[in-house]
Amino acid sequence: MTARHLIDRLVAGDRLDLPDWRRLLDVATPEDRGYAARLANDARQRVFGNAIYIRGLVEFTNFCRCNCLYCGIRRDNRDVRRYRLSDEQILTCLEDGYAAGFRTLVLQGGEDAHATDEWLCGLLQTIKSRHPDVAVTLSVGERSRESYRRLREAGADRYLLRHETASPEHYARLHPAGQTFDNRMRCLRDLQELGFQVGCGFMVGSPFQDNGCLARDLHFIQEFRPQMVGIGPFIPHHATPFRAAPSGNIETTLLLLSLLRLALPKLLLPATTALATLDPHGRERGILAGANVVMPNLSPREVRDSYALYDHKANSGCEAAEGLQRLRDQLQTIGCDIVVSRGDAPS
Ligand code: SAH
Repeated sequence: MTARHLIDRLVAGDRLDLPDWRRLLDVATPEDRGYAARLANDARQRVFGNAIYIRGLVEFTNFCRCNCLYCGIRRDNRDVRRYRLSDEQILTCLEDGYAAGFRTLVLQGGEDAHATDEWLCGLLQTIKSRHPDVAVTLSVGERSRESYRRLREAGADRYLLRHETASPEHYARLHPAGQTFDNRMRCLRDLQELGFQVGCGFMVGSPFQDNGCLARDLHFIQEFRPQMVGIGPFIPHHATPFRAAPSGNIETTLLLLSLLRLALPKLLLPATTALATLDPHGRERGILAGANVVMPNLSPREVRDSYALYDHKANSGCEAAEGLQRLRDQLQTIGCDIVVSRGDAPS
């Protein structure tokens, strides 16, 4: 079966089995990638029109108890200036973001022992009482089901937890022994059952990844049916065990964005900062390949460099109100419009 035939099956709403996904990745040519991108861009327009959703990202702590081998803020990296934003600093980010037109706040951080349920629930309640029209997305790692339940009850709408890889063997090569594939998947199932809009995802070109891994990622996502998927190229960080590994490939990332859009047309799919880091036109190229979300950074300037998951993280300046206008202008060149809205997943 040719790649085109498999792509056409996705467009028709078929599910592919694992060998089909593998074959598609193995045989896709640059022409096939262009074909998938055109169809994915059409699919995005059919569901979302010209609208691009924006999320204001607040990286509120870089303390982390985890030791993921790829990540620059891993516990064993002694070279990081660790920081934690105060409630007041986070609420200032919220107000600035709200004034600029953001209606989704993403609170992301390392797995910081100070981010207790009590503290997070209090913060969620404050945010929701000030701005009931703002959706809050949490991205604070693996927690107990009970913790997720409390956060949901306190008003959290969405949760991002990349599965990182759907292959257990690959997972074990990216993480230390105490961090297990089974617990990651348990968390994702709990989040889905508790009624969060859930996002999973993975890095493209992480060490030891092959098309077999990627096929399993796509197959898993197609079955799990998350509302959001975050993917971006792996980029090495100089103070991690993977410092010498090559970055992920941009073309592969774009192909995967297109295939995800075709497999799940209503997906909320960001063109990520990692993509924009490797390519100055990464955001636009991601959108033209099927992405429909961008996540500008709302963190205070003085801490942005300290939240370095990988080297040379893009700092596009699209953050403040005038930067958002620049992003709007950029996206207008490809016929897209930033909208002021929560940007929920269509039902
Ligand atoms: N601690 C939270 C969120 C922060 S990490 C959590 O575990 O969910 C957010 C994502 O950044 C990770 O899921 C990972 O996929 C990505 N990431 C980490 N290191 C990276 C690297 N070197 N290159 C590209 N992406 C990376």
